[in-house]
Amino acid sequence: MADMVFKYSAMNGGKTLNILQTVHSYEENNFKVIVVKSIKDTKGEDTIISRNGMGRKVDILLKENESLLTEANYKKYYTAKVILVDEVELLNETQIKELWMIAHLINVPVLCYGLKSNFKGDIFSDGIAQIFAIADHIEEIGSSSLCRCGKKAIFNARKENDKFTDEGPCIVIDDGTKKEYEYVSLCSDCYLKYVKIGSDEAKKLANLVDKIK
Ligand SMILES: [Zn+2]
Repeated sequence: MADMVFKYSAMNGGKTLNILQTVHSYEENNFKVIVVKSIKDTKGEDTIISRNGMGRKVDILLKENESLLTEANYKKYYTAKVILVDEVELLNETQIKELWMIAHLINVPVLCYGLKSNFKGDIFSDGIAQIFAIADHIEEIGSSSLCRCGKKAIFNARKENDKFTDEGPCIVIDDGTKKEYEYVSLCSDCYLKYVKIGSDEAKKLANLVDKIK
């Protein structure tokens, strides 16, 4: 039977480009590909768009609590060579379990692309916790996402009005306060230095280091 694979990177790590290249190589050989994304990803509406402007309309635009196991969708899976999921961190636990069942019961490989952690440095969602639990393979996508210091980026730090923060809701909704949000991919060293430096844990550790010196 086929496998479910989780491919992750930090933001701007080339995930969408990787999906579009995979779609292209299957489709140029006349294989059918199913592209799935959550409606929660509002960028590009029903299309996935890479940073270089390439795009592909999705085959399934999944609503928040919608099941992937509908009759209409089943028909699509049976004729597909592969299922690709963009921004998989936006899917819920049940939807992840459904993808895993599709791979193993219908025998179609399911390749899921997404982020493992949020701007707080925690597991992004229940869906991501679930995918870590049951994915057959977990792979890091290259190292195309670099930190400002040149090391590989691991974290997706958030800037609010130009200052790093690890506080606030995971998904930002425009509440009319005109806060400006920006995301920056950072390595562990820089994340600790710029984002976590004011945290109680970091202060405690800094004190310990001082003592030992
Ligand atoms: Zn760095």
